[in-house]
Amino acid sequence: MRKPVIAGNWKMFKTVEEAVAFVDALVPLVESSAHCEVVVAPPFPALSSVAQRVKATNIGVSAQDCHWEKEGAFTGEVSCEMIKEAGASHVIIGHSERRQFFGETNETVNKKIFAALRAFLVPIVCVGESLAEREKNETERVVGEQMTKGLDSLTELQLSHIIVAYEPVWAIGTGRTATPELAAETHRFIRDTVAKLFSRSSSAAIRILYGGSVKPDNIKGLMAQPDIDGALVGGASLKPDSFAAIVNF
Ligand code: PEP
Repeated sequence: MRKPVIAGNWKMFKTVEEAVAFVDALVPLVESSAHCEVVVAPPFPALSSVAQRVKATNIGVSAQDCHWEKEGAFTGEVSCEMIKEAGASHVIIGHSERRQFFGETNETVNKKIFAALRAFLVPIVCVGESLAEREKNETERVVGEQMTKGLDSLTELQLSHIIVAYEPVWAIGTGRTATPELAAETHRFIRDTVAKLFSRSSSAAIRILYGGSVKPDNIKGLMAQPDIDGALVGGASLKPDSFAAIVNF
C-alpha cells in the first residue's frame, strides 16, 4: 500500500519566528492524522528551528533545494549533508521555479537525487509541463524526458526511496488546478514510465504526488484518483488551517 504524503512548499515565505509559530499551530491539527505523512518545507534559515520543534511529532521537514556536492567553493549553496544535519528528512528537487528561474536541468536534478540519497534524505522530485507544451500536446514527451534523465542510473533500491511530484507548471500558483481526471492521466503515464525504466513492482510502489493549486476544496477529488498518492501544496500550505484541512482530506 502506498501511504499518502501531503507536503507543504512554503517557497520564500515565513521568517524563523513565523515558521515556528506555524508548526506550533499545525501540530494539534494533524497529530492524529495517521492516514498520511505530513511534510513542511520551510526556507533554509528556518529548517533547523522547525525540525527541533516537530521532533516528537508526525511532521517531517523538507528543504526546497540542495547542491549535489558535499562541500566546496559554491557560494550560496547548501549541501544535502548540511540539510540532514539541520534535522530535515526530505528535499524537494527540480521544482519548476528552480527550472524556470535558476537554471535547473534534468542533469542537475539527477545529480541532486544521488546527493540526497547519499545523505539519507528523501528526494521529492518534481516534473511537469508548461502551458505551451501542453497546448502543443507535448506533455508526455516533456514529462517522459524529465523522468528518464532525472532518474538516470538509479537502482531500483534507490528509486524506492524517491517520491515524484507531478506539477503542471500552468497550474502552479494560478488557481487553475488540473481536473482530477487530467492529473490522473499524467500520473498513469508517469507510473507506466517507471515500469518501463525499472519494473512493474517499482511502478506499483512509487508515490506520485500532484501539485498545482491544491486547496481544501479540491483535494478530495484528487485523492479519489487511484494513481494520485498525495499532494505538494504551495499557497494553501501557508496557513495552518488550510494546510491541515488538506492533510485531513
Ligand atoms: C508548488 O509550488 O509546488 C505549488 C504547487 O504551488 P501552488 O499550490 O500555490 O499552486
